[in-house]
Amino acid sequence: MTQFAFPPHPQPSVAIAGSTDRFPVRRIFCVGRNYAAHAREMGKDPDREPPFFFAKPADAVVDSGARVPYPPQTHDLHHEIELVLAIGTGGADIAPDAVAGHLWGATVGNDLTRRDLQNAAKQLGQPWDMAKGFDNSAIIAPLVPISRVSSLAQGRIWLAVNGALRQEADLSDLIWPVGQLVAILSGLIRLERGDLVMTGTPAGVGPVVPGDLITGGIDGLAAISTLIAPPRSAAD
Ligand code: MN
Repeated sequence: MTQFAFPPHPQPSVAIAGSTDRFPVRRIFCVGRNYAAHAREMGKDPDREPPFFFAKPADAVVDSGARVPYPPQTHDLHHEIELVLAIGTGGADIAPDAVAGHLWGATVGNDLTRRDLQNAAKQLGQPWDMAKGFDNSAIIAPLVPISRVSSLAQGRIWLAVNGALRQEADLSDLIWPVGQLVAILSGLIRLERGDLVMTGTPAGVGPVVPGDLITGGIDGLAAISTLIAPPRSAAD
């Protein structure tokens, strides 16, 4: 049996709707600019780019309902509401029409983003890791097992801050729908059970500040709620 130099960290996990079991998270893959209107608001032509991916650490996951401290080194923390897929059966080079058989479940998530750090990284040609992969940056609602998911092809996706609607679209607006997206990702890396895929956000991203209550959801699938708390003090 392997002896570790120190006790391994706890396994990151997300909640499962209707169950006390939790889904162990292996990796978190994210796609950029997967809704045309959001690509345009970020200054890009949605018709000209293949999907591109980035990642967050598995231990960036946070349950819906948690208080998330305003993160350090930013003055422009943005919300991004997204459809989240959970992989149940691993595979490489998965065909688009076979993707459904690899899914464990789906839910809604919030890809928190330090937009000022992301904009600086873009200008300097630097990676996005510190803009996207910081602590508590992947808020994930309880996963809905795939047998109880009625559709990933359509459904209203929305986000509100303190009750004011900020983002609203439909899953049918995805430039790269679930099958094509997961197929392309599985050609870049072998997907494994436990991986999460955040599928991109619609237009309307914007800042949040401490005290803001972020709510959102995908109608017929899941809902999410997060209170942004004051920054963590050095003593925490
Ligand atoms: Mn995103």
